[in-house]
Amino acid sequence: MRLIIFGPPGAGKGTQASRISSRHGLLHISTGDMLRAAVREGTQLGRLAKSYMDKGELVPDDVVFGIIKDRITKADSKDGFMLDGFPRTIPQAKALDRMLGEEGLKIGAVISIEVDDEEVVKRISGRRVCEKCGAMYHIIFDPPKNSGYCDKCDGKLYQRDDDSEDVVRNRLRVYRKQTEPLKEYYEKTGILKVVRGTGTVEEVFSEIERILEKLN
Ligand code: ADP
Ligand code: ADP
Ligand code: ZN
Repeated sequence: MRLIIFGPPGAGKGTQASRISSRHGLLHISTGDMLRAAVREGTQLGRLAKSYMDKGELVPDDVVFGIIKDRITKADSKDGFMLDGFPRTIPQAKALDRMLGEEGLKIGAVISIEVDDEEVVKRISGRRVCEKCGAMYHIIFDPPKNSGYCDKCDGKLYQRDDDSEDVVRNRLRVYRKQTEPLKEYYEKTGILKVVRGTGTVEEVFSEIERILEKLN
C-alpha cells in the first residue's frame, strides 16, 4: 500500500499517520520530521531548510524531492509507505509520479483531512511534541497525564518554532495557494478520498479505516 496523508497544517496528518502505522505496520514518512531532524543536526541542508520553515514558507522542491527520493528507495520502503507532508506542490507530485512510474508503481490513495482555518489555529497553538520520541499532544484536546512530559517515554514536550500564530497564518496562506491545488490533480486520477477532520481523533481514524478497507 502506498498512501498520501494530505491536509492543511494542523489537520491531524501526523496524529492519524501514526495510528495507521501502528495498526497496519505501514512505514510513516514525514518530510517535516526529516527536515526538523536535519535542522537539529545542524547540517547544511538543515540550515537552508530552517530559513524557510521559520517563515512558514515551503522548502524548495528540488531539496525536498532529493530527501524523499533517498527515503523511498531504501529497502524498508519496498512493501509500501505513507507520505505525510509530501507532496506539497504540483511539481513535487509530478516528480513523485515519475519516480514511482519508473518502477511500475503508483500511489493507491490520497486521504485528504479537511478542517477549516480557525480549527487549524486552535489545534496548532496547543500542539506539543515530545523531544525524545516525537509523540504528539494537545494541551486541551489531548493533554499528557503529567503536564509537560510524554506519556510514552517521559521525554520533555516542546512547542515547535513555527507554531506561533503569525507563522501559522502564513502556512495557511501557503497551503491554500501552493498545496490545495493538488486535490484537483489527484481527483482527476480518481484516488482522492476526502475525510471530515473535525471529529475526535477516534472518529477521524474510523473514517480513514473505512476508506482503507475498501481499497483492499
Ligand atoms: P504541518 O504538519 O504542520 O503541516 P510539517 O511538519 O509537515 O508541518 O512541515 C513543517 C515545515 O517544513 C513546512 O512549513 C515547510 O517549511 C517544510 N516542509 C515540510 N514538507 C515539505 C514539502 N513537502 N515541501 C516543502 N516544504 C516542506
Ligand atoms: P499535522 O500533522 O496535520 O500538522 P498534527 O497531527 O500534528 O497535525 O495535529 C495538530 C494538533 O492537533 C496536535 O496537537 C494534535 O494533538 C491535535 N489533534 C490532532 N487531531 C485532532 C482531533 N481530531 N481533534 C482535536 N485535536 C487534534
Ligand atoms: Zn516521548
